[in-house]
Amino acid sequence: MKLKEVSKEILLKLEEAGFTLESIAIAQAEDLTSTLNIDLEEAKKVIIAAEKELGILPISAAEFLKLEEKRGKITTGSNELDSVLGGGIWTQEITELAGGFSSGKTQLCFQLCVNVQLSYNEGGLEGKAFFVDTERTFSPKRITEIASYRNLEIDDVLNNIIIAPTLNTHHLFSIIEQLEDVIPKERIKLLVIDSFASHFRSEYIGKEKLIARQQKIMQIAEKLTLLAVRYDIAVLVTNQIIANVEDFLYGSSEEPALGFAWAHRPQQRVFLRKSRGSARIARLFDSSRMPEREALFYVTEAGIADAATRDMYV
Ligand code: ATP
Ligand code: MG
Repeated sequence: MKLKEVSKEILLKLEEAGFTLESIAIAQAEDLTSTLNIDLEEAKKVIIAAEKELGILPISAAEFLKLEEKRGKITTGSNELDSVLGGGIWTQEITELAGGFSSGKTQLCFQLCVNVQLSYNEGGLEGKAFFVDTERTFSPKRITEIASYRNLEIDDVLNNIIIAPTLNTHHLFSIIEQLEDVIPKERIKLLVIDSFASHFRSEYIGKEKLIARQQKIMQIAEKLTLLAVRYDIAVLVTNQIIANVEDFLYGSSEEPALGFAWAHRPQQRVFLRKSRGSARIARLFDSSRMPEREALFYVTEAGIADAATRDMYV
């Protein structure tokens, strides 16, 4: 545990008493005084330090801008898509990729699992990826293919991706709980959940289960946001699409699954669709900072590419 302006001695006492950053941030100053044998003023300072560390303290917009500039971005492999996303997939937030089958969701996830490992100069974060696989689609062979086209050390690339296959929502939740330990220990910088909707859609069927489903989705989404902010990691979640009669996406008859419980959680929502051949179109349709725009990219043997780079690989 790290806390700015808190002495080593107090930190040690906090750890011995089983405190986490979260539990300090929500503790009463009075409780800390007795547990740690410190005075009230000191206890308040410790709580504020924990709130700062978690990024939950009110700050000015100017300070916020400074923090935002420091946030990491992982390149998708397509300059066009990066530019629509504001430089790639950002840390400290959830990015959603929604789309039909073969629209490129999983391929983008694979590419980002490789790209997160690149140096900062190359568009990476020099970190590892954690891939939650709900549909058993993770393919080490495909990762090898992508990495070999970029002349990367295949063994390193594979070792830097941790895969967690999940069997149901309960299992998914337990994996996410374990991430509190795994993320800092392994220097995880990208958390992928491919696909978020699949367990929910198969387990919570019928109107009578809707409330329970929405609650579970919100619980997990909240946890994902917390992990993203606390550990400065990018969270990438894929979502399926369902038929919609109300033309949600300007005339499209499809919308992302999971409804309103989920819809407001991701900071960036991207809709993917197939175009001709290996071409795919990504539309950023819901973002708090970027305009709604489309990008054309390609899924090639070498991974995600632009029109300009794809011919190098085919
Ligand atoms: P689903 O909802 O079914 O999971 P998805 O959006 O995850 O769909 P992807 O797996 O990302 O779909 O995309 C599959 C497409 O990617 C294939 O149809 C193919 O066009 C392309 N693709 C997959 N592997 C390769 C490869 N090795 N070389 C070139 N293109 C590939
Ligand atoms: Mg997929």
